[in-house]
Amino acid sequence: MKVYFDNAATTPIDEVVFEEMKPYMLEHFGNPSSIHSHGRQVRAAIERSRKKVADLLNTSPSEIFFTSGGTEADNTAIRCAIEAYGIQKIITTPLEHHAVLHTVQALEKQGKEVHYLAVDEKGQIDINEIEAELKKEPNTLVTLMHANNEIGTLNDIYAIAELCHEYGAIFHSDTVQSMAHYRHDLQELKANFIVGSAHKFHGPKGIGFLYVNHEKRIAPFIHGGAQERNMRGGTENVYGIIGLAKALEMAYSEMDEHRKQIESVKSYMIGRLKDQINGIEFNGTSEDVENSLYTVLSASLPPSDDNDMLLFNLDINGISASGGSACSSGSNIGSHVLTAIGSDPQRGAVRFSFSRFNTKQEVDYVVDKLNEILTVSV
Ligand code: PLP
Repeated sequence: MKVYFDNAATTPIDEVVFEEMKPYMLEHFGNPSSIHSHGRQVRAAIERSRKKVADLLNTSPSEIFFTSGGTEADNTAIRCAIEAYGIQKIITTPLEHHAVLHTVQALEKQGKEVHYLAVDEKGQIDINEIEAELKKEPNTLVTLMHANNEIGTLNDIYAIAELCHEYGAIFHSDTVQSMAHYRHDLQELKANFIVGSAHKFHGPKGIGFLYVNHEKRIAPFIHGGAQERNMRGGTENVYGIIGLAKALEMAYSEMDEHRKQIESVKSYMIGRLKDQINGIEFNGTSEDVENSLYTVLSASLPPSDDNDMLLFNLDINGISASGGSACSSGSNIGSHVLTAIGSDPQRGAVRFSFSRFNTKQEVDYVVDKLNEILTVSV
């Protein structure tokens, strides 16, 4: 049996999405910048997709810019906002995805002040600490993810956005893991920037988008032609854009049903793991199904010399998951997230992440195999 429990890394493309993209790979091949009919037809399809994305997020198409994915969108927001508004200070956490963390660290090396918020053992922050920092310096960029990709911990981005708005600070949220799993209403959410990446919600790889609220415009990150209304040079990834919009539309149209299905698989797995594996714990808030990113379950396994082989042993049994324990002292190999929340480096960590295509039968297979692997290695 083959089981794919690594949907936070990427998801399989939905066949319906692929069918929607296909004509733009074969028949409608024009360059959207060309003014002839081949070009115009494709340009119109891009604009329809932009409108679709904007409508789903309850915002204007003029605030949606397509990018090559989440990483480029995060880089654009952070670097260009800092540049445009002369920002000297950044507030973030050590738990951000490297798309954000490494960008912030590069800016820190160039002399920007970075305040890393304290995180507790579940990866939660205290919003009062943000306010205390904003009181000292309001001309700040706050960059905090909505849902943590490793441990599933959620930040209250609505409250954080409100706070930043009150102080006139700029708020960017890396929403890559929550996009298409939660409804982001941009009339309610006062963020300056949020991002999406299609391959996390059954769309194609190499396409994402950046939302830029009209109140704080930025200059381009990638200079070139006049594409994306002069905001991102380079011929558009046409079929990627078509696929992204279709995948987001499909996710929104059945979000509640998908969520129920995924939550029931996750709850079932928590129950089975607790029954079968002595000493199992869960990282972050991921055990709390309702109050964590419901697609992610980060299991923390009792210390064993064989934990290093865990993912390999799952893999040879046809199970794809990901993981990596906290960095042990003196080593920087391992998860920066688990290290930052003080997780014991001796414990094994496996992140199981689900999509609407997963089933309880798959959970049974995975838990039985995990049990066998752990029993053999004891
Ligand atoms: N941010 C988060 C939270 C992610 O999980 C990922 C992908 O793993 C990214 C950003 C990067 O997205 P992309 O793969 O589209 O560059």
